Amino acid sequence: MKTLFKNANLIDETGEVKTNLDLLVADGVIADIGENLCRDDAEVIDCTDRFITPGFVSMHCHTPMNIFKGIAEDVNIDDWFNKELWPYESKMQDEDIYWGAKLACAEMINNGVTAFADHYFKGHLIAQACEETGIKGDIAWTIFGFGGDCSEELARATKFCEDYKNAELVNPRMGPHSPYMCSPAVLKEIVDKAKELGVGIHLHVSETKAQVDTSKELHGGKTPFEVVNDAGGFDVPCIVGHGLWVEEEDLKYINEKTVFAVSPKTYTKLGMGAGGLWTYKDKINIASGNDGSASSNSIDVVKQMRMFALLGKWDDNAEGFTLKEIWQYMMNGHKYLNFNSGKLQKGCAADLNIFNLNTVATAPVYNPLAAIIYSSVPSVNITDVMINGKFVKRNGKLAFDEKEIVEKASACAKEIYARGRGVTKLYF
Ligand SMILES: [Zn+2]
Repeated sequence: MKTLFKNANLIDETGEVKTNLDLLVADGVIADIGENLCRDDAEVIDCTDRFITPGFVSMHCHTPMNIFKGIAEDVNIDDWFNKELWPYESKMQDEDIYWGAKLACAEMINNGVTAFADHYFKGHLIAQACEETGIKGDIAWTIFGFGGDCSEELARATKFCEDYKNAELVNPRMGPHSPYMCSPAVLKEIVDKAKELGVGIHLHVSETKAQVDTSKELHGGKTPFEVVNDAGGFDVPCIVGHGLWVEEEDLKYINEKTVFAVSPKTYTKLGMGAGGLWTYKDKINIASGNDGSASSNSIDVVKQMRMFALLGKWDDNAEGFTLKEIWQYMMNGHKYLNFNSGKLQKGCAADLNIFNLNTVATAPVYNPLAAIIYSSVPSVNITDVMINGKFVKRNGKLAFDEKEIVEKASACAKEIYARGRGVTKLYF
């Protein structure tokens, strides 16, 4: 199966634009890039005026929570979680997780996301959604462990890591929930298991100011980053969900294997404040996150990073947060996932987006990065999405039955609502 894109404009992961080039895809990878390429055995697609880019990456999702999109609005973060979300979420059934994840996969592909990093319970159901829709998922099986014993869930997570070690579309990792939902001993136990299995970890760190204050109170002045560091969490590849309230003293604990998955839409919506994220952005690795549609209402890398730029600029810093910098945050996640993706180079996985910017939203195009970052509607402007050389979206349509996904997810949502909130003993 070969595809030859003719006369395309290419935007690479750094934001450099090259015009009028051909790109050949064969056996799932980029086989050649050049002028006047010719292949009789390839499907030829004319890309005159189109822009081909690496796919987007969303680095901190809770895909099953797509089932809760819009369920709790206009509440603060404590009430959002403790009064609104968790009482429903704690009663989720397997089919809610599966259809929620599948709805998220469909939405992500529609928005040009070719790979995501997820953090949730029952990772095998999310993996199934990846395999059925064709998207790449780095899935961290979530573990709580404040009671001191996490052996049952750790055994399930370990089995998941072993089962998916060599999967084509899924990369497993360990997902301790956070230093506030796992005791230090449990955190260390999970990290030790990750080291033994040769996988990374993905966890929440310093999401709110209250979490940092409580951590200092409970752990002799230690911030959440220091608690994670004590457990060896930064010895392995580590995806930090948020890190919004990172402090200067935390910078010494993190390293090149650590990436912050940031979700500014969630922070603004739940009134979580500005934190140190913007201040220290040049000293940390940043990639676009999402936090799931329950708190951010969509999984859209462009919306998240557009907001990151606007919040960075708003207080007399219009020259900062340049188009190229923001574009690189949108691409950065690829470096931290094992999918051989994210570059327009020979041998790299053919995980690609094709943009049509000749639309009322985006024309005229003086600068394609400006058109994409500040004007585009990804679900409309991204006409085609390819993962491992296969189209998962073609000519504006998803390559699988989206109607069934919407119907099944909506039916699950009705049952969730009918089951009601109930009472939960867990308090975040
Ligand atoms: Zn999260």
